[in-house]
Amino acid sequence: MIGAGPHGLSALKALLQAGLDADGFERDSDLGGNWNFHAENSRVYESTHLISTKPFTQFPDFPMPDAYPDYPSHWQVHRYFRSYAEHFGLLDHLSLNTEVIEVAAVENDRWDVTVRDRSTGDERTMQYAGVIIANGHNWWPKIPQYPGQESFTGEILHSANYKSADAVRGKRVLVVGAGNTGCDVAVESAQNAKETYHSTRRGYYYNPKYAFGRPSDQTADLMLAMRIPLAVRRVMFKATLRLTVGDFTKFGLRKPDHAFFETHPIVNQQLVYYVGHGDIAPRPDVERFDGDTVHFTDGTSAQVDTVVFCTGYLAKFPFLDESLLNLEGDHPVLARQIFTPASPTLTVSGLIQPDSGQWTIAHWQGVLIATYAALRAEDPAAAQRFYDAMAGEVDVRFTGGTEYKDSTRHYYEIAHQEYLQALEADLAALTPVPAR
Ligand SMILES: Cc1cc2nc3c(=O)[nH]c(=O)nc-3n(C[C@H](O)[C@H](O)[C@H](O)COP(=O)(O)OP(=O)(O)OC[C@H]3O[C@@H](n4cnc5c(N)ncnc54)[C@H](O)[C@@H]3O)c2cc1C
Repeated sequence: MIGAGPHGLSALKALLQAGLDADGFERDSDLGGNWNFHAENSRVYESTHLISTKPFTQFPDFPMPDAYPDYPSHWQVHRYFRSYAEHFGLLDHLSLNTEVIEVAAVENDRWDVTVRDRSTGDERTMQYAGVIIANGHNWWPKIPQYPGQESFTGEILHSANYKSADAVRGKRVLVVGAGNTGCDVAVESAQNAKETYHSTRRGYYYNPKYAFGRPSDQTADLMLAMRIPLAVRRVMFKATLRLTVGDFTKFGLRKPDHAFFETHPIVNQQLVYYVGHGDIAPRPDVERFDGDTVHFTDGTSAQVDTVVFCTGYLAKFPFLDESLLNLEGDHPVLARQIFTPASPTLTVSGLIQPDSGQWTIAHWQGVLIATYAALRAEDPAAAQRFYDAMAGEVDVRFTGGTEYKDSTRHYYEIAHQEYLQALEADLAALTPVPAR
């Protein structure tokens, strides 16, 4: 198991619970992945709190403490992962400070895995019957290129290197991108910078964290549980936004050019507030840079000291021949976002971007992979039948009936309820009836 973020930890736990022998490797000196603030590849900033709530994010077999708020901080999340690892006895199976540098296929669908101790530089190679990759997909910055960018006289940052408001304090700032990080950084800039411009490709739905006294993801899931059709949910969501926030265009924000659920949800209650206060100036796409000036596609321009590109991340697997992950252009296409048609013993956990909290799904991905791995040991023919059927489903996506906007941001987007139902059916197919 490669990586000790939430996906790696839950996969390791599931393997051990299935009675399999497993080793986990983590390149950092601590577990927690993205939520380990001090790790080189952590992308949380000082003010990060979950945007999904506790009950819709946590591992189903290990609830977060009652004392945690609806939207815990990254510090609380990190403590939660540590107690999860301790509770399930994972630390004895985990080598920290140990980077996987090569995963190479050998005969009989086995794998030679080479790791490097990051303190001593010592390398060793071990052979495994299966590999689970859980190295995360939010660490390799995707940096756009605009004309004149190389000669821009200010500072250019990517959110990958944004750790606190110190980066923007007292400056004239342009934030590019309206993912959840882009909106958080724009808000933080509004509170600390001299001027803040927020450039977005299109208008979006900025969902509040609370609506009608409830966290909004809980309202959304209630509607799903009541089997309210997509078209009706769209109308209800739009009406809720109208009632709680109002018409975005009256704040100077653009009208969304797409239907609800066609882009990854943005959850930010403060962005519209700061736009309303004049502390964030919304702008369309950047056209070009010229000296210290940025020109926008609507003909306006602004002089800025710092640009923060909150333009997302790309998945990278530097230790592997990436063609093994069934690449389509620059990204893997996997059945259930887990199984590659290239090998029955190479799986990925975490290559998902759900419209909800993630670790409930991490749990069930781990259980599915472990159940499948255990079946390979007990009944290889049955496991192969499952894998062959799975490999045929490589193009099946879980969109909840919607069509996501064409963007790298939606490569791994899944509608969580539909996806979990598919995993449930897979588990039923893998598990003999009495054991279910
Ligand atoms: C700012 C931000 C806010 C977010 N907010 C939410 C939220 O509110 N709710 C939510 O559910 N999700 C949120 N996410 C998504 C978040 O990425 C997931 O919750 C989760 O951290 C993904 O877990 P993971 O285990 O797949 O990857 P990661 O957490 O990235 O962990 C991957 C681990 O693999 C290790 N690793 C990588 N390569 C190697 C190697 N070669 N050898 C050994 N180890 C390696 C890394 O060091 C890392 O520890 C947010 C993401 C970001 C960036």
